[in-house]
Amino acid sequence: MLWSKSFVQSDAYCPKQSVKLRLGHKGRSWDGFRVGSYVHDLIASGLSDDCPVPMKHTLSIEEMVSAKSLMDNFEEMGIELPDEECFIERPIYSKILKDGEAQEWLDCPAWMDRGSDEWDPGRAVGTAWRFQPDAYFLSKGGKKVTVYDWKTSWGIPSDSSLNKDIQAITYCAALCQMTGAEEAEFVWWNIRWKTGHSLSKPADEWLSLAKPIWASCWEKDRYQTKAIEMDERPGEHCGRCPYSDDCLVELPSYQKIDDASLYQYSERISALSRKVKSDLKARLKGRTSTLPVPGGTVIGPSINKYSKWKRGEKEKGMRKVLETIPDSLPLTDVFDVKGSLGDWLGRLPSELRQYIEEHIEEGSRQVLIKKEK
Ligand code: SF4
Repeated sequence: MLWSKSFVQSDAYCPKQSVKLRLGHKGRSWDGFRVGSYVHDLIASGLSDDCPVPMKHTLSIEEMVSAKSLMDNFEEMGIELPDEECFIERPIYSKILKDGEAQEWLDCPAWMDRGSDEWDPGRAVGTAWRFQPDAYFLSKGGKKVTVYDWKTSWGIPSDSSLNKDIQAITYCAALCQMTGAEEAEFVWWNIRWKTGHSLSKPADEWLSLAKPIWASCWEKDRYQTKAIEMDERPGEHCGRCPYSDDCLVELPSYQKIDDASLYQYSERISALSRKVKSDLKARLKGRTSTLPVPGGTVIGPSINKYSKWKRGEKEKGMRKVLETIPDSLPLTDVFDVKGSLGDWLGRLPSELRQYIEEHIEEGSRQVLIKKEK
């Protein structure tokens, strides 16, 4: 079967979805990537004469505005690429052998090129890995290869997650093998936030990380696809799954609905939550006795006691604390005023608290819900 970082990622979410993608099954496509895909294509067309300018008419007005803003960011970032030994959106593949060894890295035929009308991953025989760097280039002398990847999504991954990034590992390992470079650097350019992260390793380190991934792909291809199709793992991702309309997996109905319907559903739940709270309050106002609820909360009318500054004495009290703080206590610990005055007093060392007792008094208020602290 044909594997790529996207197919490995979808396999982690749901093996059934991933195997259907690898078999080339048609399904409903998720529209959430539309702006990102357009921006990727537009950047590629600006960097290479071989990449066509994408059609803008597929975008709504709002999506066009969003794409323009991302392109403005890209321009402002001033990312430079060398003129020579620089490749844009080049689709590459290799047959993968049993031990995770890549046989030979070659340019993809049209049916392995996602951008081609002939794209059909189901034609793969044996195990193959394909990848398509947004851009990569070699240093002068060819000792180092650098890969650029444009990200347009919201999230910025942590450094530790970048270290385990399937894309960085497999792209860098493959390019080191293919070009003979001794070192590879992967750079994630986040165009939405105008920032970049990079990770550099020697070729043998990238390869030792990539080979177990490729070997696992080879091993997974030894299993019957029918058995893998039984491995359904439902979740939020079902709403983005091309096959959710036909999938009989049992899951809360909202997880299969599209993004607009999911937003409306979440709004209805919020409105319902406000209504339930208001109805509960009305009912509790009618009670004259309290009722303990498991977990320590008491509902029904009760008195909540709390500490408060005596009228006009807050400044005096605070000054006293300030004047009597011993040098050994950090000021930021003492004046950590998160929560109520009672919380602050509870945290205050007793030797300081005694100075302000005379400025504090007990207050009380009627409450309908009293939560255990
Ligand atoms: S709908 Fe969910 S469980 Fe079914 S194939 Fe898609 S991702 Fe898997």
